[in-house]
Order: sequence, then structure tokens, then C-alpha cells
Amino acid sequence: MAGSSADPAPCAATFHCGHCGASLRFAGVSTETCPYCASANFVERPPVADQPRPELVVAFTGDAAVARRRLDAWLGSRTWFADARIRRARVEGLRGVYLPAYLYSAVAHTEYTAAIGEHYTETETYEIKDAHGKKRTATRTVTRTEYRPLSGRHVGYLTDVLVSASAGLGHAELQAIEPYDYLQLRRYSPAVITGWIAEEFSRDGDDCRRACRDEAIDEVGLRLRRFMPGDSHSDLSWRTQVTWESLAPILVPVWVLAVRYRDDRPALRVVINGQTGAIAAKVPLVWWKIALAVALVAAVAAAIAALALGGSP
Ligand SMILES: [Zn+2]
Repeated sequence: MAGSSADPAPCAATFHCGHCGASLRFAGVSTETCPYCASANFVERPPVADQPRPELVVAFTGDAAVARRRLDAWLGSRTWFADARIRRARVEGLRGVYLPAYLYSAVAHTEYTAAIGEHYTETETYEIKDAHGKKRTATRTVTRTEYRPLSGRHVGYLTDVLVSASAGLGHAELQAIEPYDYLQLRRYSPAVITGWIAEEFSRDGDDCRRACRDEAIDEVGLRLRRFMPGDSHSDLSWRTQVTWESLAPILVPVWVLAVRYRDDRPALRVVINGQTGAIAAKVPLVWWKIALAVALVAAVAAAIAALALGGSP
């Protein structure tokens, strides 16, 4: 399957998946089904015009054998509750794909307000009745919180925000195997991806820029929460404006295993970071196995309770 030869592939063909909508370009790789969804509705057609040209690429580290060992170890560690079909999955379906994405960075200027809580303790007296019904006073220590308003400005540099531009593999799945190590980033050249499957960009730059900005603003919120003073805080709100935005089309490496076991269900999919080996999948659990386990635990508990009561009827 994937390898690397010297020249960019002049005879690369573009295939379109009629099921998940991905358009994939490859040469010297044989596949009759879509790597993302295992659909056989996978037909050759001309490449889409006006594709953004990738500027950057993170290359695969290791070959299919490395990915396969990683996958075998992972499949072996799935619990009994997982659908057995994923554990029996044909690992031959594992494909290396260069996934289209956008890499975003910006400077974020933020104004925020919050209520900062400081804890303090107080001794209070209260009345109790003793065993004879006589009232007396006692003291106890209670913790209270005093809030004070805080507002401020925060300027920070946001880098390495990655958003999927793939039709076949959405943003949440990409996020699950992030991060990539961008110190290993290279300038794109077709030679880097020769011998691999590469997906075309299917989300436009403006759409991805908005998604990147939203993710960057969420990141600002996480940072603000981390540096709030005091013992607690509430009512944190912030307004962020971004400047010096940059958005670069990038290809990132993923290994994909798609197992189609029912036509009315999306394929079971395992995704592996082609650089770090991080692995993610939504393995379906089998509900009758969970119900059986719950029933067994309940039965064992009932048996123990019966024994504890001395076996009386
Ligand atoms: Zn597909």
C-alpha cells in the first residue's frame, strides 16, 4: 500500500465517494472502497478546479506496519462490552491519508469581567438541645465566600489551531487525535505525498476561518479561567478581537480503518495520528452485554444479601 517513490504522481486519479462525499487523489495505491467509510460507491472523476494548494504538510512517521502494531495493541485492549465486529475488523483496510485542514494563528485582544470569590471562615454560635431537652449554645466554624468584581485586558498569541477541511473526517475526529508536532512542519511539495492518498479540500477557507476563530475564542476562555485569582470565580464573560490572523492550507497524516457492517449505519471508524500514533474511535458498545453484566451484579448482590440474612426464607 502506501510507500514513497521519487516523482510526484503525474497519473494520479481523483475518486469521489458517493457516500461520505470525500474526494481523494492518489496514484500507485490500490483501493476500491472509500478509506473513510468503506463505501464501494467510489468512482473516478476529474479533480475539482480552484482547489487551494496546500502550503504546509506534516509528514507520516513510520509506515503501515508501525500503524498496524499500534492498532493491534489497541484492538486487543478493547473491553468485552465492545462490538466484537470491531475486534474482528480486517486490518488490511488500514489506509494512510493526507487529510486537508487549515492551520490558524492570530493575536487575541480580550476584555473580560468576572466575580472573584475569596473564602474566609467565621465562627458562629447556634442552639442545640441536649439529651434532657435543655437548650444550650455551641459554636462551629463555617466557610463563606466574598465576591468582588474584576475586569481587565488580556493579549495573547494563539497558534496551532487546526480545523478539518475534509468531507470524510470531521473536526471532532481530528481533534480526538491532535496535537501534531508542528516543529516537524514542512513546506508542501507534491513529492512528500507521492504514494499516499490525499484528500481534496472540501470546506472553503472562509468557512474554516470562522471555525478556527470560534475555537481560538474558546481557547481564550480556557486561558482566562486558568489565571483567574482568588479561590473561585463566577460570571466570567469576555469579548475577543483577533488581529494578525493567518490561515494556511495544510495536509496532516492520518491512518484510517473503516469497517462497514450495516448499510444503515455509518462505518465504524478508527483514526490514528500518522505522526504521533494517537488513536481514537467511537467503538459501539453492545447493550445486551451491558444489561447482562448489570443483571449478574444484581444477582450476586442479592445472593450475598440472602447469605448475610442467614439463609432465612
Ligand atoms: Zn466515503
